[in-house]
Amino acid sequence: QPSLGILGGGQLAQMLALAALPLGVRVTVLEPDPEAPARLCAAHLRAPYTDPAALEQLAACAAVTLEFENVPLPALSALHGRAPVRPGAEVLARSKHRVREKEALRAAGAETAPFVAIETAADLEGALDQVGGQGILKTSELGYDGKGQARVTTAEGLRAAWTELGAVPCVLEGLVLFERELSLAVARAPSGQVACGPLVENVHRAGILRSSVFPARVPAGTEVRARSLAAAVAEAWGLEGLLTLEFFQVAGGDLLVNEVAPRVHNSGHLTQNGGASSQFEAQVRAVLDWPLSDWRPLHPCAMVNVVGATDPDGQPLHPDWAGIDALDGTHVHLYHKAWRAGRKLGHVNLTAPDAETLQARLDKLLTLIP
Ligand code: ATP
Ligand code: MG
Ligand code: MG
Repeated sequence: QPSLGILGGGQLAQMLALAALPLGVRVTVLEPDPEAPARLCAAHLRAPYTDPAALEQLAACAAVTLEFENVPLPALSALHGRAPVRPGAEVLARSKHRVREKEALRAAGAETAPFVAIETAADLEGALDQVGGQGILKTSELGYDGKGQARVTTAEGLRAAWTELGAVPCVLEGLVLFERELSLAVARAPSGQVACGPLVENVHRAGILRSSVFPARVPAGTEVRARSLAAAVAEAWGLEGLLTLEFFQVAGGDLLVNEVAPRVHNSGHLTQNGGASSQFEAQVRAVLDWPLSDWRPLHPCAMVNVVGATDPDGQPLHPDWAGIDALDGTHVHLYHKAWRAGRKLGHVNLTAPDAETLQARLDKLLTLIP
């Protein structure tokens, strides 16, 4: 029976394990948090990511994959030569560092927002003009859900923002006036086979993904271009596993890559109920070097995140679960996490026979999830 190791035991590992089990694949996660979501559906090595004994057990798996990009280097070194880690160290090094990532994306033929690397105070001089006068300053490493970012419109504002972010290495990106945000995942097996997921349209709120919709409402040809860009990056980077690209679609239809994640992505959760395979099965198959096929849904679908929300007094606001249950086409996915403000606690997938019905159901669902 094949076995898969996962570095990290959060909700992505939980859903990878749930996809792997019916394929006959047993999953072991390495995750220090005793309450981590994946503990309920995978063998749980409860230890630091760098624990030698736990890593030795993980290395007994046929392959090791991950659910977050900031895997400590000692963990990768300890696994080196003992079990294949997919994606590998090179792809991880790129995707966890915004400047290296943008350079590698451009080298693969993708466009990005204009950017300037900010390493020292001297790099701030003239940087805002170089990116077009308005920008977003982001820490080069460790940011997620819009954390570690600041919007800047003046040179003084830029200096203040850099200090506020801790004067750590950053990237200043030009502000992109996008029409919509999109994402698409690509899987590549070590043997070279490539397959893609759907092009999905995403709406963010307060830096966190609020909802995703398939199919994306985009000009003709956009999905084909997104797929070929994703495949080009997967080939150029020698990807083994799954990689998700986040795009800005600007007026005229051009695609800029915002950032990538070397793994399944929140925007791909709707594939769980899309009627075809899911992004989770795709990552499992790619990492184990099994045959791949596209996992584009067979009918319109959407996803709304359940995030710990509060009223103006800071009191928890909960979804209307009875209303969600009564709404046609809903599929609830919960992560078994304690409530915390701003924390991703679950998501609700939505299906419908046609795009119009989907939109009507989505409008309703959005009123049920604060
Ligand atoms: P994630 O949770 O997706 O990993 P993150 O913290 O890495 O988020 P980004 O994806 O870089 O952050 O940015 C979060 C959101 O901020 C984007 O989805 C987009 O809405 C907005 N944004 C980021 N960069 C730019 C930009 N250069 N121009 C305009 N909007 C931007
Ligand atoms: Mg990110
Ligand atoms: Mg992002």
